[in-house]
Amino acid sequence: MMDVARNDAGDLVTIEMIRGQALPPALWCPGELPGGDECGAKVQIKALNSKVMAAHFAARHAPGCDSSSEHSEDQPGDAGHQVDQGLRPVRWKMRLGESGQSQGPDGRHRPDDNATGNKTRRRRANAANGLEDTADDKSFSTLLLNILAKKIPASLELVIGTRPPELASSLIVGAANADKATYTDRWIILWGLVKEVRTSGYGSLILKLKRAADDVAILVDKTNMNRLGIDSSTNLVGRHVIAFGKYTVPDSDRPHLRVEIDALAFNPRLRRARPTAP
Ligand SMILES: [Zn+2]
Repeated sequence: MMDVARNDAGDLVTIEMIRGQALPPALWCPGELPGGDECGAKVQIKALNSKVMAAHFAARHAPGCDSSSEHSEDQPGDAGHQVDQGLRPVRWKMRLGESGQSQGPDGRHRPDDNATGNKTRRRRANAANGLEDTADDKSFSTLLLNILAKKIPASLELVIGTRPPELASSLIVGAANADKATYTDRWIILWGLVKEVRTSGYGSLILKLKRAADDVAILVDKTNMNRLGIDSSTNLVGRHVIAFGKYTVPDSDRPHLRVEIDALAFNPRLRRARPTAP
């Protein structure tokens, strides 16, 4: 079901936060549309006092909203408890853009879908991975707001590109825990609060994170800067950020995660850059 909504101020709101309020606030869907915009549909509160169904949010989502694929799994007779889904793992397939190259630098397609290359990636549906293909489609933006609202389903698995499903609990690392002794050269999802933005010698943005272990930062390359319409003048300090990439410790000993493809999102979200009308 839909776990997180936002209010007019942009704060994330869960169903538990609604309980006991005399007048529920106006709520909106913070889910992401395929183009990167927020869904923004009006959210309604259902079954808040029901004896037969768990309270939940509902909305008439815009097409492609990544919060709309969450069907209610409530069982009759459940009086407001979260319903365990049993042995079936909850699996989210993370949305990635099409900015990645579809072939290697030598012009050939990679021969092995399960081997993650440094510069090459492609995606394809694989009927052998049936469950993977039926996984809910989620943006990194929505993953971040579920983390912030502490609404990550137990035993959640994530599918990123052509990688096999991985437990979210081992893949997602908060900045405070992202020490280099544990994570160097590992592919992780790193999240934290932006405390400072610097520019690298190559024009990339370096996002310094609050209370980050070993001062690990997130490196945003120009492709992602252009995609999100951000530069060193954009006000990113105070936003939460999430990124997927490889934890790298170069010779200069400044640990960082380089954003892979477009696996980068902020909360509050940034509008993606779009061509200006002629
Ligand atoms: Zn929506």
